[in-house]
Amino acid sequence: MILIKGGTVIGPTGATPADVLVVGEQVSAIFSPGQGPAEGDFETIDATGKYVIPGAVDAHTHMELPFGGTFASDTFDTGTRAAAWGGTTTIIDFAVQRTGEVVQDGLAAWHGKAMGNCHIDYAFHMILGGVDDESLKAMDTLVTDEGITSFKLFMAYPGVFYSDDGQILRAMQKARDNGAMIMMHAENGPAIDVLVKQALERGETDPIHHGLTRPEALEAEATSRAIWLAGVAADCPLYIVHLSASKALEQVAAARDLGRNVFAETCPQYLYLTLEDQLGAPGFEGAKWVCSTPLRSKHETHRADLWQGLRTNDLSVVSTDHCPFCFKDQKELGIGDFSKIPNGIGSVEHRVDLLYQGVVDGKLSLARWVETIATTPARMFGLFPRKGIIAPGSDADIVLYDPAARTRIGVETHHMNMDHSAWEGYEIAGKVDTVMSRGRVIVKDGAYHGGKGHGQFVRRGLSDYLI
Ligand SMILES: [Zn+2]
Ligand SMILES: [Zn+2]
Repeated sequence: MILIKGGTVIGPTGATPADVLVVGEQVSAIFSPGQGPAEGDFETIDATGKYVIPGAVDAHTHMELPFGGTFASDTFDTGTRAAAWGGTTTIIDFAVQRTGEVVQDGLAAWHGKAMGNCHIDYAFHMILGGVDDESLKAMDTLVTDEGITSFKLFMAYPGVFYSDDGQILRAMQKARDNGAMIMMHAENGPAIDVLVKQALERGETDPIHHGLTRPEALEAEATSRAIWLAGVAADCPLYIVHLSASKALEQVAAARDLGRNVFAETCPQYLYLTLEDQLGAPGFEGAKWVCSTPLRSKHETHRADLWQGLRTNDLSVVSTDHCPFCFKDQKELGIGDFSKIPNGIGSVEHRVDLLYQGVVDGKLSLARWVETIATTPARMFGLFPRKGIIAPGSDADIVLYDPAARTRIGVETHHMNMDHSAWEGYEIAGKVDTVMSRGRVIVKDGAYHGGKGHGQFVRRGLSDYLI
């Protein structure tokens, strides 16, 4: 039994001074300050001056993902440990059905990678690399038997994960029937491939051309097309992943205004980093920030629009799309050809801090901070109320956040398996102080007390946002 005393509990409805009693792996009760059990034969954690928030839920990670001839550099062991350091206590990773593979085999491979290796709880979405009769049938099985209730499709990456519009429609119709969520990588891949080829023919090989060949129009077009296709599939639930551009956000907002089952997430990199300042860094340096969708221009309104979208709930969730690659030997695969740079940025450790900076900067309320990093992703993907909230009966995944301390982000201090940081030198006015996962204190006083194998696979239900 542990009593967390003297803190301010933050939930999706606001902030309340309260004490939290944890018994075993769950929250047992919440008391007005000082009204809980008297000091006795149990541990007390002093939360005076700290925010007590639900452990964050990162709904978009790619541990050990095979991509571009290499693998994402974080394993489930290193990646979930880094997540824990940063206050994230649940990840939803993407299991992969490669083209030509049986869906259940891809899922089994992912369980094999994760089982016994995770420091925090984890769940899976399923990437469908090939939509056919067999994989459509597998969607039903995964929803009913495996606790996997969301499926990612790609309008980009022809020849790798790409689905054509007919395949997308069929998967959406299936999702409409079984209640699953379709997650969409919304970029027009065939058109992007033409622009990439033309750029390389002109000798434009630097990392910035990764961004310039993936223009906003091709994200907005694909987002719009996905929304229309979901409409044809009788309003199948649709979740746009890693939305980066103003005009794509406009499409989502318009659909939501019509009452459609359309949702979207963005990621910290799109809220802070830009095409010019990071992707356009001199020489090959910009490769660190090659990700898809790409970073957008600072001369346009993307970042301000995305923050506003978070406030208005047109963007419901912030995930990281954590997909780390080392600079040496991995990002370097693309020297002389930006299209060969593995796509991805590693941020799984930093999302709680980076979004708290939004609170400090007056862009988000405390409640909205907690909602976008914890409560809404839990509700969106069928983990609520077990995850995403501090309430009697929910898992004791709890973070004490210290608004008076500071965090300096960089390769010297981070715990991700990366030889660089996309956030080198960033300073946050706040700090993850203590982290608890299912009642076990895993980070405290700057020391790590967790262990691999503590994290368990969590079966998910259907999204809370549908009736
Ligand atoms: Zn994607
Ligand atoms: Zn991704």
